Amino acid sequence: INKIAVFTSGGDAPGMNPCIRAVVRTGIYYGLKVAGIRQGYQGMIENNIVDMDNHSVSNILQLGGTILKTARCLEFKTPEGMQKAYDNLKKNKIDALVGIGGDGTFTGLERFSSKFDIPVIGVPGTIDNDLYGSDYTLGFDTATNTVIEAIDKIRDTAESHARLFFVEVMGRDAGCIALRAGIAGGAEAIMLPEKDTSIKDLIATLAAGAAKNKTSGIVIVAEGDKNGGAFNVAKRVKEVFNFYDTKVTILGHLQRGGSPSSFDRILGSRMGFAAVKALIAGEHRKTVGLRGNEIVLTDIVEALNGHEFKLEDDLMEMSTILA
Ligand code: ATP
Repeated sequence: INKIAVFTSGGDAPGMNPCIRAVVRTGIYYGLKVAGIRQGYQGMIENNIVDMDNHSVSNILQLGGTILKTARCLEFKTPEGMQKAYDNLKKNKIDALVGIGGDGTFTGLERFSSKFDIPVIGVPGTIDNDLYGSDYTLGFDTATNTVIEAIDKIRDTAESHARLFFVEVMGRDAGCIALRAGIAGGAEAIMLPEKDTSIKDLIATLAAGAAKNKTSGIVIVAEGDKNGGAFNVAKRVKEVFNFYDTKVTILGHLQRGGSPSSFDRILGSRMGFAAVKALIAGEHRKTVGLRGNEIVLTDIVEALNGHEFKLEDDLMEMSTILA
């Protein structure tokens, strides 16, 4: 291979920029030309492709989001869209791809590379931490830190007014952010998509806290909790349990932004570095991941089909004991 291209796709995540930087600088170090594709698969179809050099990734380590922009692109799912993308890659003499994103992005890479002869490597970039093949995905650590900061602030007002706050955090299918932020923020209860907690049980927990003179409460509710989100949970609790003044905070998109943590900067750098080395070594249709403290490659089909229960048993157990 002579020229590789890097792109970000799907939801943005802090750590994508350090990864782009690592791909560009590693590629150039090993004598490759490197291009950046703007707005993910959309940019491939629209030929929105720019040549990158060491300088084009200066001063981006500390930036959240992605300098290459990202997009969701329906046209890439069609044969015509893929063909246009391929033609543009050829026009730009690009002969290998590094795609940073979530499972949709990996699906795109898998479909594209089963049709066209272009080596691809996927890098897991999503705050949800819900991809097979890596203990951590880019952005998860930063997002969790953002949630903890918010919980600490909410705790100040909760404590001053004897209030009970229901804080909704991201995680439609995976409760990774909710569980960790709940433990690190000392939440009274954590509602997860992976665990059915009934409103009755939640009220029992909160009532037990009130009986022990707890003067405030924070309940973390993951978006995907089966009771239907923080507003619904708060409403149903309030109907029965009125010990505290009750408030709801939806953290929303602020969880996606912000300067990447040291962990995400290092992880992005390691994954970008490894992705380029993998392409140079002739690897194809793989994803990069961190297992323990080692960078590993996983077959992209296995990464897409694999399932992992990421919520650690000890965290699940201690979440109620320590609260
Ligand atoms: P996040 O986890 O943050 O949502 P994601 O990568 O899963 O990130 P998606 O919007 O699901 O985000 O996927 C990103 C893009 O990947 C889509 O907009 C589309 O262009 C491409 N893609 C997804 N599924 C397919 C598919 N079946 N075939 C081809 N391309 C696909």
